[in-house]
Amino acid sequence: MKIHEYQARDLLSAYGVPVPPGRVARSAEDAARIAEEIGLPVVIKAQVLVGGRGKAGGVKLARTTEEAREAAGKILALTIKDIPVEAVLVAKAVDIRKEYYLSVTVDRANKKALCIVSASGGVDIEELAVKEPEKILKHYIDPLRGPDEKDLREFLSAAFPKKLLDQALAALLNLYRLMIDKDCSLVEINPYAQIDETTVIAADAKINFDDNGLPKHAEVEALRTAEEYSREEIEAKEAGLSFVSLDGDIGCIVNGAGLAMATMDIIKHFGGEPANFLDVGGGASKEQVTAAFKIILSDPNVKGILVNIFGGIMDCNIIATGIVAAVKETSLKLPLVVRLEGNNVVAGKKTLAESGLSLVTGDSMADAAQKVVKAVGK
Ligand code: GDP
Ligand code: MN
Repeated sequence: MKIHEYQARDLLSAYGVPVPPGRVARSAEDAARIAEEIGLPVVIKAQVLVGGRGKAGGVKLARTTEEAREAAGKILALTIKDIPVEAVLVAKAVDIRKEYYLSVTVDRANKKALCIVSASGGVDIEELAVKEPEKILKHYIDPLRGPDEKDLREFLSAAFPKKLLDQALAALLNLYRLMIDKDCSLVEINPYAQIDETTVIAADAKINFDDNGLPKHAEVEALRTAEEYSREEIEAKEAGLSFVSLDGDIGCIVNGAGLAMATMDIIKHFGGEPANFLDVGGGASKEQVTAAFKIILSDPNVKGILVNIFGGIMDCNIIATGIVAAVKETSLKLPLVVRLEGNNVVAGKKTLAESGLSLVTGDSMADAAQKVVKAVGK
């Protein structure tokens, strides 16, 4: 799970990492008022759960209240990487002398926490990592032993001058403590900004959480915003479906998580790529099946659909009726392969056959998977 910068700043601050004063605003008017309260100049920053806001025009400096209002209005009208900006952070602008990079993440392969620092932080850090990887410094912390201050100080001294070293060390130790306490998968400060001779502060904050840790942290779960989900995922949630979008071109409608996994596997086995994981659950209604079709059809990459239903609790005829209704309602033009098995399957197949729709039926999972892979042209 990801959280917004304005939320991440609060957590950093609670863990003793200094951040410039700032507050979130949802209108240009609010932004102007907050700017006056915290004192000008301010930076107005788009609050969206993606990086690269600076380069997308989502970070603007404002010297007067009027400029703050105007900048906030412009940023609130932006769409960054397909996400409409709905809130801005209004933060006290700092004079940045130098931009450092500081983060802690989980290295699963090494079963350790990985600290990354650079003396060349800022918006081009990804490019730097490719072009000049030697400027990105790494250090592992064994979570069973915990951080060793002496080791960390030595590591940090390769990036920070002596007069900033104590602050950088304290910040890194605090990032690590935050990560362990809250089960974060990433805690990142970029830029970690030097604002005068002797001070470094967090001028941006990014925190991601391990979803598996969320049940332990109600206070973290409470930070979740609607944007955390894709639009399809929100629609699926509202329809009571579990949906995960993937990169392929075969839309899948399946009942039961186990069967959904097996369906994705068998599609891959026959050379296809699933576009999603979609579990309509044990007792899907006609409305849910229609919702499932609509969600899948909203993905422009989908070139064919496979419905794979095992009627245990589920009555195959309800699914069949749902499919017929959904195909008509969505005026489906894509190839559709249906494999039904189990409870009341004879009636289900009859409903499909009598519908007059041009769908293909599969006798088994393997048969259906092969047919849909062929239909999308693989
Ligand atoms: P990102 O592009 O999404 O990572 O957004 P950031 O919050 O990191 O902002 C992008 C860039 O804007 C930073 O790297 C800084 O160069 C600049 N910036 C952000 N806040 C300030 C500020 O208070 N003062 C100054 N001078 N520059 C800032
Ligand atoms: Mn940044």
